[in-house]
Amino acid sequence: MLLGNGNPLDSTTLADGRHQAVWENPHPTPCYLFALVAGALDSVSRDIVTGDGHAVRLAVWAAPDDVPRCGFALDATERALRWDEQRFGRYYDLSQFNIVAAQDFTMGAMENKGLNIFNARFILADQDTATDADYLGIESVIGHEYFHNWSGNRVTLRDWFQLSLKEGLTVFRDQEFTSDMHSRAVKRIEDVRLLRARQFAEDAGALAHPVRPPEYREINNFYTLTVYEKGAEIVRMLHTLLGEATFRAGMDRYFADNDGRAATVEDFLHAHEAASGRDLSQFARWYSQAGTPRLHVHRHWEGGCFRLRIEQTAPTIAGHSGPQPLQMPLRYVLYDASGAALDVAPDGGDGSGLVVLDRASHELVFNGLDAAPLPAFNQGFSAPVKLHCDYTPAELATLARIERDPFNRWDALQQLAKAVLLRQFPDPHDAGAALSDAIGALLDDDAADPAFVAECLALPDFDTLADAVDIIDVDALLAAREDMLDLLAEDHVERLQRRYEALASVAAGGIDGAAIAARALRNTCLSWISRLDPTAALASEQFAAATNMTDRLGALRVLVRFDAPGKAEALAQFQQRYRDDALVTDKWLTLVASRPQPEAIDEVRALLDSSWWIPTNPNRVRAVLGSFARLNPVAFHRADGAGYALLVEQLPRLDAVNPQVAARLIGAFESHARLLGSRAALARSALVRLRAGVHSRDAQDLLKRLLA
Ligand code: ASP
Ligand code: ZN
Repeated sequence: MLLGNGNPLDSTTLADGRHQAVWENPHPTPCYLFALVAGALDSVSRDIVTGDGHAVRLAVWAAPDDVPRCGFALDATERALRWDEQRFGRYYDLSQFNIVAAQDFTMGAMENKGLNIFNARFILADQDTATDADYLGIESVIGHEYFHNWSGNRVTLRDWFQLSLKEGLTVFRDQEFTSDMHSRAVKRIEDVRLLRARQFAEDAGALAHPVRPPEYREINNFYTLTVYEKGAEIVRMLHTLLGEATFRAGMDRYFADNDGRAATVEDFLHAHEAASGRDLSQFARWYSQAGTPRLHVHRHWEGGCFRLRIEQTAPTIAGHSGPQPLQMPLRYVLYDASGAALDVAPDGGDGSGLVVLDRASHELVFNGLDAAPLPAFNQGFSAPVKLHCDYTPAELATLARIERDPFNRWDALQQLAKAVLLRQFPDPHDAGAALSDAIGALLDDDAADPAFVAECLALPDFDTLADAVDIIDVDALLAAREDMLDLLAEDHVERLQRRYEALASVAAGGIDGAAIAARALRNTCLSWISRLDPTAALASEQFAAATNMTDRLGALRVLVRFDAPGKAEALAQFQQRYRDDALVTDKWLTLVASRPQPEAIDEVRALLDSSWWIPTNPNRVRAVLGSFARLNPVAFHRADGAGYALLVEQLPRLDAVNPQVAARLIGAFESHARLLGSRAALARSALVRLRAGVHSRDAQDLLKRLLA
């Protein structure tokens, strides 16, 4: 097969037996979107007609053995195409749309014109080999790359400084696609969880940069959470400020005015200014100011008057100019004592529940109330900020129960758990009890979406906690988290068992929302139950009986995580069963490399000496070393520095093979300067040693910034 950009014109076999294919691309296309694929590939395909009447053949290509696992990707492609027609009025513009799955691929996927190239992990799926998360990931990445056809390809970038113009916008579009296809609340929770755990850390660490960086030495180092995820948050704020209809008009204008051109962030904002009649010059600061803004809310109740003073500050980032107030939409609701939302407007404002902040300090004044209400903020995470209000544990527990916005119910619980873990309440016992009661109520709520309950039970992770403190005391944070999980599991073991059993029959279903949600909660319950008694047989039984990868891997994760009896046997069985499947092999390697024990280092060393280790395969490197450095703070941050040493030892060889993959791993050191005690010095000296061993521009750029 020979595939290229554009429309196929001709394909022949030449006299000498070679193949010739002629493709013509009618659209102006920048060179980074050129692609050519040649190989012994097979495909699944489907002929469709676009909403504006053009015939298109959709095809997903892979090595012949992999083709039976391409059907879901093909379905997802058609869903993405239809969604972009309906939600954004964007139609496909060639006679073919080809997607190719590659087993060795550095990124997730790439939007080459009419010929998207994919990491096979975002294409191949069946229930025996892919988890529910894999399925959702496939749909979302298929959507992302497809949506680039307009946001990136038809309208492309003037220069790489504008990278977020296509990436932030396209992430926003793929987030909306997933939200429209599945649970909007669960999608928002997952995206904000990632933003808080990883983007906030990036924005506070040595690699902090604005969404539009003012300079770069190696642009590959700017395919970051800030450019992608914070960039998407900026587009989302614009959507919130303008409303769906005006935003859509602005998007139509942007596409119409810039079609076939190389655009800038200014072009994007101008189109929205023209459509809305708004001045977005202050809003534009979001693109040039690094660091996560903070909002401090102060409440005053006196004589029937309720005042909210909202103060906006931003951190000063070394090497960047001083922060200025940003414009942002903040949603809020006031609740009365019965838990009902009050229909009130602040003095001089409207009752929309949306305030646009643009100054260092903003006051909302409400008159005529009988009693002090309970305010709630940032529904749906309308602004990507760290918001602080001096809530009591009881107030947060109340919000976790009464908030109309499910995202905020989840967030109230996260805030409560975080403050308990960081011992921020005067009465820790009382606060812990409030948290436990809230968890109990959620587990009793059979009407709530089980996927939502599972999200609520996933308490703030290490990265999120580390982001909330100035100095990272690794041992204290990890211990607090483990202790709290033990306590909560003990408090609710019967509830967990009941839900685990009651959800069994729904969880046995296929790839549908109800079954996926049931499996999510069941596997969370399994993990909590097993932490109380790792010798119990529940995980082994689930492993043996599993009919899908989500349950099989969920059980294996628990067995590995708690070093349970049956672990070695299950691992061996899993290894054997999937030994010829690289993507599934990556899954057990990830579990071993992220086992939260200091000795995991020895197991990682053993893997690096085994035939499982393939340093030229990006997925394999991420499964072993990426999981170790990013998902295993216990081992990576081992007090003797052995975790840092292990990573730094491997990097020179990886940097010689694939600088982009190596650079991602170096990024695991982004917060090294905030580590408590000797860890900071150990991490720094590991980086200093590394300087002599890595020669790529990618690695040298990162080291320069990390050691500045
Ligand atoms: N542009 C790709 C994406 O975000 C990433 C890459 O450059 O490969 O979809
Ligand atoms: Zn992209």
